[in-house]
Amino acid sequence: MTHDIGEIKTFISEQKNFYITGHINPDGDSIGSCFGLGLALEKLGKNVHVFMEPFHFKYDVIPGKHLMWDGIEQPTPDSVLICVDCADIGRLSDRAKELAETLPYSICIDHHYTNTNFAMYNFVDGTASSACEMVYRLLDSFVDLNHDIASALYAGMVSDTGGFRHAATSQDTLDVASKLMSLGIPFTEIYTELVHLRSFTEVKLLARILNSCSCIKDGQVVYACVSQEMMQNFENAPDATSQDLEGVVEILLNIRNARVSLLVYERDTKEVKISLRSRSVNVGAIAQHFGGGGHTLAAGATIKGQYSVFEVKDKILLLILEALN
Ligand code: 5GP
Ligand code: MN
Repeated sequence: MTHDIGEIKTFISEQKNFYITGHINPDGDSIGSCFGLGLALEKLGKNVHVFMEPFHFKYDVIPGKHLMWDGIEQPTPDSVLICVDCADIGRLSDRAKELAETLPYSICIDHHYTNTNFAMYNFVDGTASSACEMVYRLLDSFVDLNHDIASALYAGMVSDTGGFRHAATSQDTLDVASKLMSLGIPFTEIYTELVHLRSFTEVKLLARILNSCSCIKDGQVVYACVSQEMMQNFENAPDATSQDLEGVVEILLNIRNARVSLLVYERDTKEVKISLRSRSVNVGAIAQHFGGGGHTLAAGATIKGQYSVFEVKDKILLLILEALN
């Protein structure tokens, strides 16, 4: 159940200390909603602490880093934990899980249809383009947005919609984006940074993956695998890491006739990560088979254990084929 927005605003108005976090492996929407919301609560005179795992330097275009909390000292006992862009407790970092257990109050602001309503107050709409769009709805006629808040929210919306292209982009999404743009934000710079720019290493890695990707079922399913061994022996860019793979799975779905794209890669922590994108098949349901989740057309999972990227790929292809038939 999603709570009444007025009730959540009243509750926020009455509280003083806030700890805001997004999901593990932060992406643009998670970072943008943490900082956008954090800056807005700071403007309301609240004590705001934002905490999350380290993120890619391209997200430095998002304002609000002065709100970062090192996670060391204990919050005062009456603090509120706010989780954004997280469908369930499993998406939280260990420190955030601790706070979820110890703090008396929690709020979740999210746009995953799989959301488990794990917080005390849940503000969730599975049809919204992004968590940032949800944060905007919460802040509208509550906090006077400024340039920095608007930049952070716009950045998250651009990221999660792939530059306002994905199916979840609605008329409301563009209305919100237009209102944010009216505050004089550097929208071209943010858009270019988060949608188009790639490092030399990322381009080389992309070239290698495009060279090695495969398809089945007359090109309806396009997939690629990247093991740590492949990553480390990659002579053109020896410093490549799995962070340099962001956005690759979306490029695979740009192949004409592709209905599902799959990228399976190994992180340096040896976990196997899957990323799925789709034009029709519910890949969120497929990711859930592997303990992951996401949205109908964009989903992922992280698999700890003994399987290689190639074994995981074989298992997932079977489920994709089943879903296509
Ligand atoms: P990506 O493929 O870009 O990592 O993630 C696409 C979407 O899938 C994200 O918005 C997120 O909702 C979901 N997702 C990605 N990885 C995981 C994961 O390990 N666990 C869960 N539950 N969801 C994930
Ligand atoms: Mn999101």
